Amino acid sequence: MITFNIKQNQQDCCDTTTQSCDTNSHNCCTPQPKSKEVCPKCNNKAKGVLAKTLNTLLKDETKEKLDSLEGFYYCKTPSCEVVYFKDKTFLTQDDVKVVVGLKDSAKPATVCYCFEWTKEKIKEDLQNNGKTDALEDIKAKMKDPGCSCEILNPSGGCCLGDVTKAIKEIKEELGLA
Ligand SMILES: [Zn+2]
Repeated sequence: MITFNIKQNQQDCCDTTTQSCDTNSHNCCTPQPKSKEVCPKCNNKAKGVLAKTLNTLLKDETKEKLDSLEGFYYCKTPSCEVVYFKDKTFLTQDDVKVVVGLKDSAKPATVCYCFEWTKEKIKEDLQNNGKTDALEDIKAKMKDPGCSCEILNPSGGCCLGDVTKAIKEIKEELGLA
């Protein structure tokens, strides 16, 4: 059962566009909480997040108010102000140390926290060169020096899915798709 869970999570984390997930070379595929819950504000599905992710990313004053960092969920809906929630506790951008790049008004709109890829940088690449090597760059750096998504990325997981989506959206926006 445990093996099954880990396998599920690896697939989840390492987006289907990448067939090269090597768990020895980076730690983004450490098992993430498998549970899903619906965000009470936007009604979209949200993924569980590890306590250690919150421990690194939440402001100290927010942490002081919380009894426990366990059992929170991450809402990635761009238009939803909720970043993390548990029961009746809602945490927003104000509670988080880094800018949550996937939310609508985020500036910079960071998509890869380990190697600092933002939607702005991807857009600049696409405007100037018609292409971006964001994915190649991230994948190469995941092998060496390795990534720390679980403590740097607000989602606590691998960014490749988000980066792929961002590139697609920006290409469409620029008429390159
Ligand atoms: Zn939400």
